[in-house]
Amino acid sequence: MAEYDYEALLKQAKEKLPKGVAKEERFQIPGVDLFTEGKITVVKNFGDIVESIRREPADLMAFLQRELGTPGNIDGKRATFKSRLGVKQIESRIQAYVNTFVMCSECKRPDTHLVKDGRVDILECEACGARRPVGVRKTFTSQQTRAALVAGNVYEVMIQDIGSKGDGIAKIDKYIIYIPGTAKGSVVKVKISNIHGNVAYGNVFVE
Ligand SMILES: [Zn+2]
Repeated sequence: MAEYDYEALLKQAKEKLPKGVAKEERFQIPGVDLFTEGKITVVKNFGDIVESIRREPADLMAFLQRELGTPGNIDGKRATFKSRLGVKQIESRIQAYVNTFVMCSECKRPDTHLVKDGRVDILECEACGARRPVGVRKTFTSQQTRAALVAGNVYEVMIQDIGSKGDGIAKIDKYIIYIPGTAKGSVVKVKISNIHGNVAYGNVFVE
């Protein structure tokens, strides 16, 4: 009898646990509420969306204009785009913005803020303290995210900026990599020579 009770309790506990955890960690972004008028799309709850992700309305707007390829403007709580757009189209771009500029890639929480480190924007997590540069194009990082950078290894990166000393700057996940002798916009293979925290140094690798 005692054994049965224990198993029943365990089963009960297992059923309850994931639900409770999931509920607590859920991060809700309101769904896009829009209407279209001819070639104009009005997102009625743009203000609520921005508030839920705790970012500047102009930042999200600039991102959406770029990603949707359409001009737009903010009018109070509303956002207006000068083309006919669907809910899914806008929601997928908002999700992309959130993945890049809001979610901590370490602990997956949205409790973050952006800080400037020179010319690089850094996402700082208030929950776990992780830091990572933002604005990284997924195509260049997908195969190498999450794994820690290793000195001596070779990575393919895009030079996103030039530092004050003339070195090219690339980013992989949370790392900023300085690579001398490279030009902005070029894609190079870099051999990492050393790593200090989230900052790494490397040289162009020639096969
Ligand atoms: Zn975190």
